[in-house]
This record gives sequence, structure tokens and C-alpha cells, in this order.
Amino acid sequence: MSNNILVTGGAGYIGSHIVRRLGEAGYNVTVYDNCSTGFAHSVLYGELIIGDLADIHHLYQVFAKHQFSAVIHLAARLVVPDSVMYPLDYYTNNTYNTINLLRCCSVMGVNQLIFSSTAAVYGNPQENPVTENTPTLPINPYGRSKLMSEAIIQDYAYASRLRYVILRYFNVGGADPAGRIGQNSHYASHLIASACNAVLKRQPELKIFGTDFPTPDGTGVRDYIHVEDLASAHIDSLCYLEQDGESQIFNCGYGEGYSVRQVVERIKAISGVDFPVINEARRLGDPACVTACAQKIKQVLNWQPKYNNLDDIISSSLAWEMSKLNRDNGVN
Ligand code: UDP
Repeated sequence: MSNNILVTGGAGYIGSHIVRRLGEAGYNVTVYDNCSTGFAHSVLYGELIIGDLADIHHLYQVFAKHQFSAVIHLAARLVVPDSVMYPLDYYTNNTYNTINLLRCCSVMGVNQLIFSSTAAVYGNPQENPVTENTPTLPINPYGRSKLMSEAIIQDYAYASRLRYVILRYFNVGGADPAGRIGQNSHYASHLIASACNAVLKRQPELKIFGTDFPTPDGTGVRDYIHVEDLASAHIDSLCYLEQDGESQIFNCGYGEGYSVRQVVERIKAISGVDFPVINEARRLGDPACVTACAQKIKQVLNWQPKYNNLDDIISSSLAWEMSKLNRDNGVN
């Protein structure tokens, strides 16, 4: 069996951290990415092939050339309010293109898949933390596009030799501890990235979207996970599949919920910058509270998170954003 791994979306924020870890572990990595939100310079190991999953003929050629032992599939659009405005883009890019990838796996006999899913499949859960058995009732097209992909993967696995690990990511933050890679997108919509922009005066203020949720302080509660621990979950999943592990779904979070106000307070305290905060209406498609029960991934994969506290995640994101600013300004 080769140790050639295909990572779709490997030039993106999370994908580039996984690629780095795979490279460090000695895998041969091929990244397939259309670079719509990813960057070639974020790919520190392996070969970057610029291509779109919609282009199935190109994808077949890539599969034919490399003989992959496993595929890690991240390429997707992932901004909740964006998905409400552009649902067809989400169903095409996230759901339909997953079918293209599975067709290539089928034809070329690739039988190990790790799929990037999301806490958004749970929608607005009645109870938190959610386990993998909590009913999946997504409330936005992003969550639905991922849940449909999960179902397609499961149905295809039933009909074939495919074994999969579906990882349901909670809210990802932080950067490479050695400072080589991190979040690079031009438009920061996620909370920690957006608040970092407010710290660095790239934007005048931080808007809090929704202060009337049924949560202790009225703002949305999420479970924030460090990107490095999330990357470890992928490496652990790959080892598990390599050792003939059966198909699984795992939550990837820490089991701690923090409100938007709590996150903003910690970012202000850690950075020492008191940026303006404005209360706004809720965003389209946002649930009140979603936190993970992460017992299953710890038990089955022996996943051992190393950065499981909010201050570490925030400090890591801030350090990365500062280093980008210094680079932009020509300071070493
Ligand atoms: N949020 C906010 N201001 C921002 C960005 C996000 O108040 O500038 C809130 C958002 O409404 C949600 C939480 O922060 O309650 C996490 O949102 P994010 O976009 O980071 O991730 P999501 O949970 O939507 O995937």
C-alpha cells in the first residue's frame, strides 16, 4: 500500500495544517485546491495541483497518476450566512463535488476517506453538549450541504469497500505553533479572525451578531478548537483507517462553550487593546449554542488535545496575525 495521500482543500486554513503534519510524518502529499480561498504559499509539503472538484476529468487524471491510499476531503465553502445567500453554490461545491470525488475513489479503488464535516449538522440542538447520536437537524444550507455529503458517503460506503472517518469540526481557531502558517483569507468572517482584525485596526470595530439568544449573556455560544489539535485528529483518523478501523463519525471540539462576549473579553485582555464593540441583529442561519461531547474520539482514536484552552487559541491567532502584519510592513 502506498502512503500517497490526496488532500482536497489542502491550501486552505485547516487543510494546510493537516498537510504540514502529514509531511512531517513522512507521507507523500498531493494537494488539490482551486485556490479560491486557499494559497499556494500555505502548502509546505508535497505537490499542489490547482484544480476544481467540478472538473472530474482533471480529477481522474490526478488519481490515475498518483495511486492514493487515502483521501482527506476538505475542499468546501464554509461561511454560514454566505450559504443562506448562495445555497446553490454550497450544494454544488460541497455536496455535488463530493460525488465527483467518490466517483474517482470508486474507479481508482481508493477505499479510505476522511471527510471534513461540521457542527452545523446539529442545527440548534435541544441539549448541549451534543454527541454523535444527537439528531442532525441543520438550520442553514451550509449544514445541510455537509449532512447530505455525510449521507452520500455512508450510502456509498455501504455499497463498496470504502471505510470513512467523518470529522464534525466545531469552531476552529489558532495557528501553527511555529508560526509558519495560519488563517490567510482576505475576508475574515469568523469570530476570532474578525476580532483580531479589530485588535490590529484592520476594521474599526467588532460587531456582535445577536444579543438576544437564549444563552447566559444573550450572545452565541460555541466550542472553540485549536487548528493544531484538529490536524492531530486527522492524523489519528488516518492511522485508524490504515489499521483497518471501521467507519466512524467523531465530534472535534473540547466540550467547553464560550459566548461571543466571553471570547471578545479574552481577546481584549490578551491583546491589551480595547477595540469598539457594536451590538447587531442576529446573522442569518446562526444557532444559539453548540458544544461538543468529545468522548468518542478520545476513546476510539486516543485523540489527546494539547491546546485545549481558549486563551491558547486566541494567543496563537493573535501571534499569527501580528506576524502577518509585520511581514506586510517589512518588519522581521
Ligand atoms: N460572530 C460575531 N461577530 C463576528 C463573527 C461572528 O458576533 O464578527 C458570532 C456569530 O454570530 C456566532 C459566533 O460568533 O454566534 C461564531 O461565529 P463564526 O462565524 O466564528 O463561526 P460559525 O459558528 O458561524 O461557524
